[in-house]
Amino acid sequence: MTISKVAVIGAGTMGNGICHVFAMKGFDVSLVDISQPMLEKALTTIGKNLDRMVAKNSITEHDKSAALTRIATFTGIQEGLTNADLVVEAATENAELKLKIFNQLDQHAKQGAILASNTSSISITRIASATKRPQSVIGMHFMNPVPVMKLVEVIRGYATTEETTQTIMQLSRKLDKIPVTVNDYPGFVANRILMPMINEAVCSLHEGVSGVAEIDTVMKLGMAHPMGPLQLADFIGLDVCLSILQVLYNGFGNQKYAPCPLLVNMVMAGNLGVKSGEGFYKYTPGSKDLVVSSNFQG
Ligand code: NAD
Repeated sequence: MTISKVAVIGAGTMGNGICHVFAMKGFDVSLVDISQPMLEKALTTIGKNLDRMVAKNSITEHDKSAALTRIATFTGIQEGLTNADLVVEAATENAELKLKIFNQLDQHAKQGAILASNTSSISITRIASATKRPQSVIGMHFMNPVPVMKLVEVIRGYATTEETTQTIMQLSRKLDKIPVTVNDYPGFVANRILMPMINEAVCSLHEGVSGVAEIDTVMKLGMAHPMGPLQLADFIGLDVCLSILQVLYNGFGNQKYAPCPLLVNMVMAGNLGVKSGEGFYKYTPGSKDLVVSSNFQG
């Protein structure tokens, strides 16, 4: 199947990156969010990220403006889906919300369109059950930041066909990504392994084993990780980390995935990381630039 028009649902951290990558590769993209301010913020972020690429001479001014003209924004799902061959859903990590969105996508997307979810952990089979086309529902899990990270985890639900899987594998390669297929288990591969590490880092802080900067330094210098787990959690969003841990905890019924109480408290307090300006570190508003280490003691 040929994919030329894509709709991206959700214009947050991941949605704007996914939109950026498709537009840069020549696809027409409809970016949909219930929040007009989020759509405006997404267009600003995409513009700034493209400016950075121009400054590095990796694209021209013309490439940038051509990419921006391929993006249209919508606050209503139905208008945003017109003629879309593929929908990539990147809305908030909440199972009930995703079921509702997929039910709407199934009603309004054209016949034969593939419905993909960028979910970090929620069952693709469960999401597909909200549609009458489970054979065309698949996980297309990009990594953050999308324009930089090469991996796409391609998740096959119980009913996903080989044709749907191969279309998404080929499309991912067209986007200059490296796709890896995985089966539908809680957290798939990436977050089943990553989130327990982040949770353990938060627990180490909570129990006073060491401080924020020290924990991150141990993992950066000791394990050659490009970024410490606490800063990575800030980049992902602490609310997203908590939702994924809850999916792992409920999915496997194993205490080892129980979210650290400090993580729960920080999310309840609204300290979500980069997107709220403070998590384990403080950030310049509207940017990923770290200002200072948070001064809480865990
Ligand atoms: P986010 O909180 O930054 O953005 C979510 C966006 O969804 C918001 O703009 C919100 O307004 C919008 N939204 C909510 N309900 C909607 C609806 N009904 N219709 C349209 N838009 C709606 O979240 P995010 O970090 O971008 O995560 C999005 C998805 O990507 C989640 O499933 C998450 O698990 C996954 N993901 C996140 C990361 C990460 O590092 N943050 C990495 C990989 C995958």
